[in-house]
Amino acid sequence: MQKTTRYSKKREAILEVIRGTRVHPTAEWVYQTLKPTHPDLSLGTVYRNLTFFREQGMVRSVGVIDGQEHFDGDLTPHSHFICQECGGVYDLLQPPALEGLDRQVSESYGFQVDSCDLTLRGLCRQCLERRAAGGGERAV
Ligand SMILES: [Zn+2]
Ligand SMILES: [Zn+2]
Repeated sequence: MQKTTRYSKKREAILEVIRGTRVHPTAEWVYQTLKPTHPDLSLGTVYRNLTFFREQGMVRSVGVIDGQEHFDGDLTPHSHFICQECGGVYDLLQPPALEGLDRQVSESYGFQVDSCDLTLRGLCRQCLERRAAGGGERAV
């Protein structure tokens, strides 16, 4: 087991990629994106660094979709919509319903709330349109 405690160029590149996209990528996506410019990069290195970033609070995890964890380099408070069909992850402005929820929870339960976000799941507009256009699924 080699330890990459030193600040490395690869680590920097991985962080840059994840901060520079809004697709909420998986480790695999980051790996494929960096491969052409970093031929010696391994998927394991990407995984290790993403875990490190998450532990350091430099990226956040959106959750596991189809068995793959998705990451977000945008740390501002916002919620997510996940399409069950295409696996797309969309940013949502923080819904007003969450306003004050952290305070209510800490008053009711005595917890300290550090962050608050929602994950909604369903079908995105493109998938809905595809279905409406026929898609061969429903013969109406
Ligand atoms: Zn979709
Ligand atoms: Zn996001």
